[in-house]
Amino acid sequence: MNTVGFRQANINFDDLREAVGRSDCISESTKVIKDHSHDWWPINSAWRHQEKSPFEPNAVATPKNSEEVAKILSWAQKAKVPVTPWGLGSSVVGGPLTVHGGISLDTTKLDRIIDIDTENMHVTVEAGKNGGILEDQLQSLGLTLNHSPQSLYRSTVGGWLATRATGQFSSRYGGIEDLCVGFKAVLADGTKVTVGGSPRMAVGPDLRHILIGSEGCLGVITEVTLRLFPLAEFRKLQTVTFPDVTSGVTAMRQIMVSGLSPFLLRFYDLAEARHAMKDASFSSPVMFVGSEGAKNFADSEMSELLKICNENSGVDVGSDGAEAWMKRRFDFSTIENVLKTHGGVAETIEVANNWSGISGTYDALTKALRPFADEVLGHFSHAYTDGVSLYVILLGQAESPKDAELQFEQIWKVANRAVLDSGAVLSHHHGTGLARNEHVHEALGSSWELYSRLKKAIDPSGILNPGKLGL
Ligand SMILES: Cc1cc2nc3c(=O)[nH]c(=O)nc-3n(C[C@H](O)[C@H](O)[C@H](O)COP(=O)(O)OP(=O)(O)OC[C@H]3O[C@@H](n4cnc5c(N)ncnc54)[C@H](O)[C@@H]3O)c2cc1C
Repeated sequence: MNTVGFRQANINFDDLREAVGRSDCISESTKVIKDHSHDWWPINSAWRHQEKSPFEPNAVATPKNSEEVAKILSWAQKAKVPVTPWGLGSSVVGGPLTVHGGISLDTTKLDRIIDIDTENMHVTVEAGKNGGILEDQLQSLGLTLNHSPQSLYRSTVGGWLATRATGQFSSRYGGIEDLCVGFKAVLADGTKVTVGGSPRMAVGPDLRHILIGSEGCLGVITEVTLRLFPLAEFRKLQTVTFPDVTSGVTAMRQIMVSGLSPFLLRFYDLAEARHAMKDASFSSPVMFVGSEGAKNFADSEMSELLKICNENSGVDVGSDGAEAWMKRRFDFSTIENVLKTHGGVAETIEVANNWSGISGTYDALTKALRPFADEVLGHFSHAYTDGVSLYVILLGQAESPKDAELQFEQIWKVANRAVLDSGAVLSHHHGTGLARNEHVHEALGSSWELYSRLKKAIDPSGILNPGKLGL
């Protein structure tokens, strides 16, 4: 439904081609449009099985530099055509789907490395760069981003910022907000801005955070500077079993509060431990812990980590489980295989709470999802001194793709309600997209006013990713 006065039909993109000065800057080909009509939000699998495509853009723009991004946005604002940034479409919540049609702005031609600065340990890269390709290039120089989402090879650097992503080593290195030094972006009217860039700054609010997590609703990120690290000289990994969820979560809390900083800290409940250990008869919850750095440091940190685990009834069962997981940590096949089947239902829901509330959230969310699933799996990762994220995976099967679609819709309604009622945050790192859109206002509480005024001021015509972030 077009309630906001956007132009959605009979848009003449020739004016845009002329403004940009390149006839192939925008494509209206059916295939290209189809390729930008489905992201990785699992409900898309049910749509695909039914050959449904509810969120098609009118056209797909592929700017080659920030000047072209600026020209596209400036044209779109005047023409009242929505623009929704598209990285690699790995969003699992419908973030880059075009609710009001218009232009899907594919950033992947912005893929140059601008600078690798080994004195200040920064890499500056265009925002459409594939994260995995960047990481491989850096590793060949003995460097790393230490940002390792499971989607490393399926996502862009700009997408990481826009979704406030986090990676598997975040308990030590932080999320993308900690790793991002600064960026360049283009605002809705085509104005170019450069934000941040120094180790720290006390010149007003930290403006990086206006666009980090803004899900394409406040600007198009075109270039990003991230911190660099030397590759760790030595890594030590261990696998520890626990008698129950409570003892493992308590050990995680004590580890974080003690000031230790394992680069790997993940704890799986019994149901997910069987998948994580690739052993259907595995009989206890399991934790993977890892220390890295100089050998003496990693060895002694690991002794302290294992001491805390042992004090909480953890049993060290060797390194094999954690090492095998590290090798297949980008594998998503458990979920992909379910989604390939007719009627397959699989979801991933990540939230966070303080230590005092996380067990209640785990109980509430897993209970709420059980009626929809053959299996409900849970793990705790991304730990902080004050809390932790909980990631729940649901695997199930409906009778038909149509039934699966209804089930997906129901799952998000029930899950979002259970999460908010348990006092947890709506999303820890996937963002809100369409899956959580109707709960954003409630989740932000009175700070909604701050966000909605910001949106009106920065994007007064509302052309950037309309229909998202609660609007
Ligand atoms: C198998 C799998 C595993 C995953 N694992 C993780 C994980 O470990 N950690 C994690 O955080 N996420 C994970 N995700 C989610 C997803 O990969 C992230 O949200 C990622 O950051 C999205 O990047 P993208 O480039 O694909 O962006 P897209 O999916 O294309 O877009 C996501 C959102 O960002 C906006 N956007 C994209 N680029 C820009 C830009 N340059 N400027 C402004 N807005 C922009 C879009 O409009 C959209 O709202 C996973 C997804 C999959 C499929």
